[in-house]
This record gives sequence, C-alpha cells and structure tokens, in this order.
Amino acid sequence: MNLYPIFAELRGRSVLVVGGGHVAERKVAMLLRAGARIDVVATRLCSGLLACKERGELSHRALQFTPQQLDAVWLVVAATDDAALNRRVAEAAGPRQKWVNVVDDAALSTFQVPALIDRSPLMIAVSSGGSAPMLARLVRERLERWLEPSLGVLAGLLDRWRGRIRAALPEINARRDYYDALLQGALPALVEKGRLDEAEVELASSLRAPSGARRGRVVLVGAGPGAAGLLTLDALRALQQADVILYDRLVSAEVLELARRDAQRIEVGKSGGGNSTPQEEIHRLLIEHAQRGEVVVRLKGGDPFIFGRGGEELEALRAAGIDYSVVPGITAAVACAAYAGIPLTHREHAQSLRLVTAHCARSIDTLDWQALAQERQTLAVYMAGKHLTTLRDRLIAFGRAASTPVALVENGSRREQRVIVGRLDELPDLVRSHALAAPMLLYIGEVAALAGELNWFGDAPLIGQAALLAKAA
Ligand code: SAH
Repeated sequence: MNLYPIFAELRGRSVLVVGGGHVAERKVAMLLRAGARIDVVATRLCSGLLACKERGELSHRALQFTPQQLDAVWLVVAATDDAALNRRVAEAAGPRQKWVNVVDDAALSTFQVPALIDRSPLMIAVSSGGSAPMLARLVRERLERWLEPSLGVLAGLLDRWRGRIRAALPEINARRDYYDALLQGALPALVEKGRLDEAEVELASSLRAPSGARRGRVVLVGAGPGAAGLLTLDALRALQQADVILYDRLVSAEVLELARRDAQRIEVGKSGGGNSTPQEEIHRLLIEHAQRGEVVVRLKGGDPFIFGRGGEELEALRAAGIDYSVVPGITAAVACAAYAGIPLTHREHAQSLRLVTAHCARSIDTLDWQALAQERQTLAVYMAGKHLTTLRDRLIAFGRAASTPVALVENGSRREQRVIVGRLDELPDLVRSHALAAPMLLYIGEVAALAGELNWFGDAPLIGQAALLAKAA
C-alpha cells in the first residue's frame, strides 16, 4: 500500500486554499460540501469564488501567502498556476506538520484527493496513488454506472436505524447475518422505487422477526433493439444483479453478454412462430424463481410494454404476491427509425405516429383502417411480415395514396441492419425480392423516404423499383 486511505472530518475545521482561479474553485466546492471553513489566499478571485465569498461561504483575507497562515488550519491546498509558489506552500507545510495537496503534483503533496463515487453518506474513493489517475477515473466511471443512485438514501436510512438494530441484535455475528439478509431482501428495491414508507415498515418487521430468507423479486427489463449501447443504466444494473434471466429470442447476444457471469440464463422463445414457451409457462417460471428468493430479470426486446405482453406478466406476478419493478427500453419503432435516418415526426410531413401490430388475422381485422389511412401521420408496424398484402390493399382502399413512401428496417441498430425504401403499392414485392426476414419494422408515411438522404448507419438504403421509376420520371 503506497498511501494510507482516510476520510477526514472537516466540518467546522479550517482549511487554507492558496489560489483564486478555476482550479481553486473546484477544490473549494468539494471542501464546502464537506462543511470545511475555508480561507482563500489569492491576489484575485475568479467569478465563482467571488460568488462564494458574497454568500459568506469563504473568507478571503490575505493577498499573499505567508507560512504563518498555516498555523491555524488543518489542511492546505496549493492550487495556483505558479509552480514556485505551490512549492513554497508545500515546503512551509512540512515543518509545521500540515497535510498539503498540491494540485497536479503528487510528489509535493502529502495527501491526495481520490476519485469519488458520492452516494452520501456512502462514499467510495478510488486512488491509484498518483501512478495512473486516468485508470482511477475509468474505474470511477464504471462504478458510477454500476451503483444505483438510491444507495445514498439507503445508507441514510440504515444510519437512522442503526441504534435500534444494534439494540435488538447486540451480538455482532447475529447482526451481520441480519444485515446480509436485509440487504439481499426487498429493502434496497423499495428504496430504489422511492417507497420509503414501505421501506421503514420492512425494516420494522424484519427487526421483529429476523429471518434468514431472502425475498425474491422480478425486474421486467426492456433490452432495446439489440445494440448494447441502447440499454439504460438501470437495465445494466438489473442484469448485473440477476440470479436468473428469462429472455426472449429477440434479445441480442451482445446484451446478454453484459449480464452477471454466473446468472442462470433461460431462453423462453417468442420470435413470431417457431417454438416458443407458452405464456403461462413463463409466468410459472417467473413466480417459481422469485419464490426461491432469487432476483429474476425478465428481459424483453425493445420496451416490455410495447407488443411485449409485459402487462400480462405483471398481472400474474401481482396475483402471486411477487414484488416487481419495470425498466423501460427503447422500442423498435424508435430505435430503427433513428438508425435508418427516419424522423418519425416532421413538421412538413407527419404530426403523429401510430405504433401498430399486424401479427395475426384477428388483430388485423380489429384495426381502424379509416384512421390508419389518414395522411400526415407515420405508421410504425411491428410483426408486419405475414400481412403485407392486406396492409397495402386496405390502406389504399381506405384512401392512402399508392405512392406513399414506405421503409423496411431489418435488424435495426445491429451490424447486419438493412433498410429498403419504396412505395406502398410495391410493399409485398419489396420484402420478397430482398428476402427480408424478422425482426423487421415497417414504416408507412412520407418520412420513410427521408431514409434515402438522412441515413448514417450501415449500408445506404436500397430503393424499390416503383420508387426508382418515379424518381427517374
Ligand atoms: N417489445 C418489442 C416489440 C416486440 S414485437 C419492442 O418494444 O420493440 C417483435 C417485433 O418488434 C418484431 O417482429 C419487429 O417488428 C420488431 N423489432 C424488434 N426488434 C427489432 C429490430 N432490431 N429491428 C427491426 N424490428 C424489430
């Protein structure tokens, strides 16, 4: 260990900051958060420090540094852009046994400020002892993503209950077991959901009857369209906490790769046809694993509430009394449009967007064709594959122009993405001639044509016959 880590109690204690520029301002901001009393020595103060002074957050007494200024302080920070002055501060601090931090100079410093993940009162400090600050920063970024923002609230809650827990469980080992069970149970999820009253109730009841049993729960997570970068931070955290993951076939390998190594992965099918696990079986698996006390992630392509049967799964969980939460995902209509360069709304072309599915004959017949055929709107059709002819014929019969632009996006956002642009009247031919397969999203409306100009990802879109002829004419 090349440095000894400490967290210093600075509330009400004096700290000297030498320097009045932006670097000093950053140091002052951090010291203020810790409640320190700050004296600044500088010939000039930058506007941020002047504002602090006006708010009474610091005192600015002397213009020049003198070693005697160190006598009354606990710590000193040298943050000027004058290397000789910084050195004089460090040299004066040594004989007076004051801890000194010289900005960007580990050799002159006797203490360093670590990279910090702040979930106050919980704090995580990362340091490379000055040897590789960039690496420390990278680690900080990773932890920042991985640790939920609500950890601070949880730490505060535990702090308030600490005395009661200690009184109820005076024996240290019993207390350790209790905390283990508590933190792997429902409490952290309640805090994350902002249900602080229920969290208090949970704490009270866990103290009345401490039990070793973990309480399981289900997190319904939207995995987005495939590209791992389109996951949310909450989705990533859920994947890293999962004991079991039940995923659909639409979920990409790239996304699954990010899950906890030893999480059990169960594929439950669903890819329009093929062998898929019946919905009731999925409900049974979710409930069974959660009842064993596991953290179950139900991972679905796109967003779980858009043509994803997420609602049915929550109903089953609610009926079984299982805790759950939902992490939204980027739905295919939004993602494929972005990756194909199709603005879903556009002042000149479309003022509304409809998400439609044409999955089975029954759902096709319940669609409001009159409304779907209206102009100045964009239709985003999921699972359109089998019913392209019906779609084309009915939309045209209800008044949509045969020349209305359409775009098909296959494997949107993935490396193998293909985009085909054409006209409504050639819709089934486009799919046939390019042998498009699922997953595929169909856009109908003027904005679809913009893919030809605005594309930026993967290969440029292919243009259908009729659309080509129209262009040439
Ligand atoms: N819940 C999902 C949709 C599930 S229905 C979501 O919100 O996106 C499955 C349909 O979604 C597919 O048939 C296809 O129409 C569409 N889809 C999902 N991912 C896609 C992708 N990467 N590219 C194109 N279409 C996709």
